[in-house]
Amino acid sequence: MRYVENPPNPWNLTHVEWIGEPPEAGLEVFEEEATRSIITKNDSPDVGFDHSVNIYRGCTHACTYCFSRPTHEYLGFGAGTDFERKLVVKVHAAELLRKELMRPSWKGDELVFSFTSDPYVPLEAHYKLTRKCLEVCLEFRNPVSLVTKSALVRRDLDVLSALAREAAASVYFTIPFNDAETARALEPFAPTPDARFKAMAELAAAGIPVGIGIAPVIPTLNDPHIPQLLKRAREAGARHAFMTLLRLPGSVAPYFEQRLREKLPTKADRIVNRLREMRGGRLNSSEFGERMRGQGEYWRMIEQQFRLHCERNKFNRHADVLESAPRRTFRRPSSQASLFD
Ligand code: SF4
Repeated sequence: MRYVENPPNPWNLTHVEWIGEPPEAGLEVFEEEATRSIITKNDSPDVGFDHSVNIYRGCTHACTYCFSRPTHEYLGFGAGTDFERKLVVKVHAAELLRKELMRPSWKGDELVFSFTSDPYVPLEAHYKLTRKCLEVCLEFRNPVSLVTKSALVRRDLDVLSALAREAAASVYFTIPFNDAETARALEPFAPTPDARFKAMAELAAAGIPVGIGIAPVIPTLNDPHIPQLLKRAREAGARHAFMTLLRLPGSVAPYFEQRLREKLPTKADRIVNRLREMRGGRLNSSEFGERMRGQGEYWRMIEQQFRLHCERNKFNRHADVLESAPRRTFRRPSSQASLFD
C-alpha cells in the first residue's frame, strides 16, 4: 500500500454540503494498487446478497457500532480510531471490475456496494471510484444495489437512473435514528438523518427504487424510533425496508461499550443489559442465522412493531419487490467506451 503524503481533502470540494462535517482528527490515506480482485463472494446466509464490491476500507463516518471494524485488523490496523482515520483506497477498482465482468465465469449477478466501508465515504468526492464502477456496471448492464448513509450518492443520480432503466439499481439508506442528537452520539461524522431522508426523496423522485435499513436496532435506544422512521421513509418515496439487531463482533464490543458509556452514560446500562438478554447472556452471537436477529420477548415485540408499521406504510409489497428485483440484463459490451465518457 502506498502512503499518501498529502491526502486529498474532500471537504474543500464542491460536494461538501453532501458529505457532512470533517472529523476532528486528521485523515491518513493509503492507496492500494496491487489488489487482485474487487468482487467479494459472500457465503453468509444472514446477508441477503452473494457478491459485494468494496472500494474503500475504513470509514470516516465512524459509527461506533460498525460491524466492519474488525476487517481493518487484517491490514494490521486497529478496529477503533484507526478504522475511522486510516482509509485504504483501491485506486484501480473500476479497471479491476471491468476485467472481472469480462470473465466468462461472471454471469451478471447483482453487485452490492457496501460492507467494509460506505461506498460514499467523503473521499469518494475526490476519487470518484464508486461512480466509475457504476459506469462499468452500466456498460455491462449489471444490476446493482447500494447501501449508504451519505447524501453524496445524489451526485450519481444520472448513472443510477440509467442503471435502473437498463438493468436494475436500488439504494438503501441506513437510518437507525430519527433525531440528529442520537445520531451524532453514535454516528459522529455521518450525514444527519435529515440529509439522508432528503437524498432518499431525490433519488425516489428520479425513479430509482429506494429503501430504508433500520440498522442496527439498539434495544431500548432506537426501537421506539421505528414507527417514525418508517413513516418518514415512506413519505420520502421508499418502498423497501429491513432491520437488523446490533451486532458486535470481536473488538467492536468493547469499543462500542466504551463509546456508549461516554456519549450516553445514563442509557448505557439499560441498553447493554437488554442486548445481553436478547443474545443469550452475551453481547454478540456469531452463529449463522442468529447474528442479525435477537431472541426473547423484547425482540419479538420489536419484530411485531416493525411488521405492523411496514404493513401500515405499505413497505415490501410483492409488486414493488418484483419491480426492483435484479433482472438478467447482463451483456458484455462490444465497445469498451464508457457511456459517460
Ligand atoms: S457508514 Fe457504514 S461502513 Fe461507515 S462506519 Fe457507519 S456502519 Fe460502518
